[in-house]
Amino acid sequence: MTKPIYLDYAAATPLDERVLAAMQPYFSDAFYNPAATYVSAQNVRKAVETARSQVAALLGARPAEVHFLPGATAADRFALEYILARHPDKRLLASAVEHPSVRRVVQGHGGSEVPVKSDGIVDLRALQKQINDDVVLVSIMYANNEVGAIQPLADIGRLLTQVREQRRQAGNPLPLYFHTDATQAANYLDLHVSRLGVDFMVLNGGKVYGPKQMAVLFANGSLDLHVHTGTENVPGIVGCARALELVQHDRHTESRRLQILQKLFFHLLAEKIPNVTVNGSIKHRLPSNVHITMPGQDNERLLMALDEAGIMAAAGSACQASSEEPSHVLTAMGVSDGAAQASLRFTMGRGTTEADIRRAVDVLAGLVASHSA
Ligand code: PLP
Repeated sequence: MTKPIYLDYAAATPLDERVLAAMQPYFSDAFYNPAATYVSAQNVRKAVETARSQVAALLGARPAEVHFLPGATAADRFALEYILARHPDKRLLASAVEHPSVRRVVQGHGGSEVPVKSDGIVDLRALQKQINDDVVLVSIMYANNEVGAIQPLADIGRLLTQVREQRRQAGNPLPLYFHTDATQAANYLDLHVSRLGVDFMVLNGGKVYGPKQMAVLFANGSLDLHVHTGTENVPGIVGCARALELVQHDRHTESRRLQILQKLFFHLLAEKIPNVTVNGSIKHRLPSNVHITMPGQDNERLLMALDEAGIMAAAGSACQASSEEPSHVLTAMGVSDGAAQASLRFTMGRGTTEADIRRAVDVLAGLVASHSA
């Protein structure tokens, strides 16, 4: 039997062996609770603090600004609710393509959504208009998990700086915070928080060849944020930091390698599948993401048939896979429900080869042809 082809790296990544090696001692010999007072436990505490410093260095932040939480969903929620607790009658703004971890909090508190253009990129003019005197936080994800669109964070950061200055001049003391969910970005993009102008950034261990249910929450030091999660998950913290270091170290070479595969993927799809279209910006796009619509096709049928042929892909995001609703991301981009149902997402990663892409497209083209015939 031919080897299965995994093309769902946006949903989960395999643990890097070097990350596993870094984590291993903290499951066994160095199992101590880092809050305990004896020397062995203090050594474990040091490992946690080293991990914090490693992440801080990647972000251009101070160690005290780096917090570890159990998963990106928890980290997004924590950040937004922290601000809402301090400004209960103020409003949140978030892009219309955020992950449910952000959307749920925003919708639950009567927040508003910022529209995106048809390429999935936030409409900056609309954003500017929506930031009225009551908005306390703007949440814009770094890169979208469904269509891979990369948002212009630095431009948004500059816009928010201008609004803060206007507020200062007008005597409005309300702060304006910038939160970004960088879950899907960390493998390929710059994470320097001051270059991006963000106050909060969330990173996800499970998407960077590190442990699942582990996230980093960067919070600007002026917020004086404290996280109390109980006994720390030391192997998870150590593994998350090591994983982030490794992907950030390799991000340029891995981006270039995947860009070549992505180009080939698009080229083969256009050649072999009639009327196929690509969703999301081509220019501002993660190198790992291929999201397409094949008119007249049914994505559930295709996914099952691909799975039978040993090819793992996705329709929408993993979290929505079981829902009947069309993807809110595609809807926000103006894609019709029918077209959304004829769409698939392939996401590449470290293990993806040219042969994988060629076979995946051949199999997909065969399935499409057999259904159209
Ligand atoms: N944010 C984004 C952009 C994601 O892609 C995901 C997971 O797919 C999450 C948040 C949630 O991560 P977790 O399920 O690890 O809490």
